[in-house]
Amino acid sequence: MNEILYIVVPCYNEEAVLPETARRLREKLEALIGAGTVSPDSRVLFVNDGSKDKTWEIITRLHGECSLFSGADLSRNRGHQNALLAGLMTAKDRCDMAISMDADLQDDIDAVDAMVAQFQAGCDIVYGVRSSRKKDTFFKRFTAEAFYRLMHFMGAETVFNHADYRLLSRRALEGLAQFREVNLFLRGIVPMIGYTSTVVEYERGERFAGESKYPLKKMLSFAMEGITSLSVKPIRYITLLGFLIFLVSLLMLVYSVVRWARGATILGWASVICSVWAIGGLVLLSLGVIGEYIGKIYLETKGRPRFLLREVLEDTHGKAD
Ligand code: UDP
Ligand code: MG
Repeated sequence: MNEILYIVVPCYNEEAVLPETARRLREKLEALIGAGTVSPDSRVLFVNDGSKDKTWEIITRLHGECSLFSGADLSRNRGHQNALLAGLMTAKDRCDMAISMDADLQDDIDAVDAMVAQFQAGCDIVYGVRSSRKKDTFFKRFTAEAFYRLMHFMGAETVFNHADYRLLSRRALEGLAQFREVNLFLRGIVPMIGYTSTVVEYERGERFAGESKYPLKKMLSFAMEGITSLSVKPIRYITLLGFLIFLVSLLMLVYSVVRWARGATILGWASVICSVWAIGGLVLLSLGVIGEYIGKIYLETKGRPRFLLREVLEDTHGKAD
């Protein structure tokens, strides 16, 4: 029953929250180890995503102070998703299960117990799902819900109100390692892994220090990224739209022939210029969407590495080997 748990935490400029986060995670992990729920070889793995502040110094210091803390340093800033993947892939060969969470501990860490319990009951993937968003600002809540609805409409299946707070078993991590895509959107990929999965609910709190690294601009590009890297539905919608417009233009043709036969005045400049703009806009829009996919093919064919590790803090404490 003594499985190794790795808690993977991506950090980008998180010097303001790290000491407190580390304290709380250490407490949690010590409690789990003390209760015999997880192995004493369990770790908190901080991934430094090319921070410009003292984040890595703090991680190194924590590692020196307590054997429960481990760290991985990326060669540069690669964004939340890639940093998370780097952490999970580093944990993969060392753990039986890994839980990912944000450095600001907005996700209630007490849900960890329930996640581990579900893992022990035989689940490979446990999604942390927000039971309510009362503590978020109205704007954040509104944009986040619009995000899920848009994703769903565009054919990207994700778990509602689930961010990147989840448990993955070693088997699920090995599965994840086989998804070789460069355009990484973990929330969409994890459900594709399959195996037994379940959901654990928790309340999401506020960031206790520092500021959000996800302003609206990043949220929008994240949504775009998610949709175009998971599904080709947008292309289908464009095709459908093109077809409908074609039908409308046929009806317009019939209509103008009838008007002409009746001797009514021909349609004016306004309607012509309107259609020119409408068609022009649609053509550009379609080209944009197609370009989006071609851009993805371009990036995938390059097969660039998704992350490079500068350094991994190995365990110097405890084990003799
Ligand atoms: N993060 C990261 N790289 C980035 C941006 C963010 O590793 O380029 C991390 C960040 O340190 C935090 C997590 O991703 O642990 C989520 O970021 P944040 O809390 O700012 O997002 P929000 O909760 O506001 O959506
Ligand atoms: Mg946050």
